[in-house]
Amino acid sequence: MSLPLYAKLIREEALRLGFSHVGFSKADFLEEEAPRLEKWLANNYHGKMAYMERWFDKRLDPRLLVDGAKTVISLLLNYFPAEMQQQDAPQISKYAYGRDYHDVIKEKLKELHFFIKANIGDVNGRAFVDSAPVLDRAWAKKSGLGWIGKNGNLINPKVGSFFFIAELIVDLELQPDASMSDFCGTCTRCMDACPTQAIIQPQVVDGSKCISYFTIELKENIPESYSGQFKNWTFGCDTCQDVCPWNKFSKPTNEKDFKISGEIKEWSTKDWLEITQEIFETTFKGSPLQRPGFDGLKRNIKFTLQRDGKPDL
Ligand code: SF4
Ligand code: SF4
Repeated sequence: MSLPLYAKLIREEALRLGFSHVGFSKADFLEEEAPRLEKWLANNYHGKMAYMERWFDKRLDPRLLVDGAKTVISLLLNYFPAEMQQQDAPQISKYAYGRDYHDVIKEKLKELHFFIKANIGDVNGRAFVDSAPVLDRAWAKKSGLGWIGKNGNLINPKVGSFFFIAELIVDLELQPDASMSDFCGTCTRCMDACPTQAIIQPQVVDGSKCISYFTIELKENIPESYSGQFKNWTFGCDTCQDVCPWNKFSKPTNEKDFKISGEIKEWSTKDWLEITQEIFETTFKGSPLQRPGFDGLKRNIKFTLQRDGKPDL
């Protein structure tokens, strides 16, 4: 079988599994990214996310992650929901409306790897989903799936940016795809709209100022200096994606696991305020909201709403 035929088979199977886009790049040292990552870490833009400092070499070279790696297969999985929350309620980032994406995507990647082994041969590989040692946006860009927008997200001209990025790194050689031009042009909507001015220059997000960092990653209290700036975001933040004109091309996902749960859709501010530990555990079993946990979510709700001076908070 020839290389183009391998690529065709893999693409067809990835699409069958529900991925919207698939691209290939040579598993090599990420030369362009190395100085950028170094500078970003030196500036402490990762805040207290100490795990970002680890695996520096592995992040830049997939051959250190998978023996004999030859190709990074990058895949996009749409999570844009058909239905949203009540507008006034504390807001949850759209990627977290349903089941934890790690499990959903890992299952698909396992199936894809199995398919490759069954139809192409004994291919060694490893799957990654939003995993610290892999710079997924850089690989997706290299694989021709989009460009890095000024908000730091991968933008695909056909579907916008509401998708997960995953990789299967394999020791199979495949023809790399060509990368895409940047179509942000003179637009600065995301930079202008960021509630905490975390996008400090095009494509550079100071993670330590980002609402996603405060509401998901930070274990301690959110600094009071940010009080009143979260615009109702209680878990993550989609502002810089919501304002992006390319996201008018977003279409609702077909993945039933990512659909909004009844509670997230229906709950009013009062309901969110009244969540008990028991309700949290039942409602958010297997959800990304388990990351901050019950105490973290309560902290976020209180912090987000205190701008309104609610007396009972
Ligand atoms: S996610 Fe929100 S806080 Fe973070 S950079 Fe985007 S707009 Fe700013
Ligand atoms: S909002 Fe504008 S500048 Fe920002 S990523 Fe989208 S197109 Fe690029």
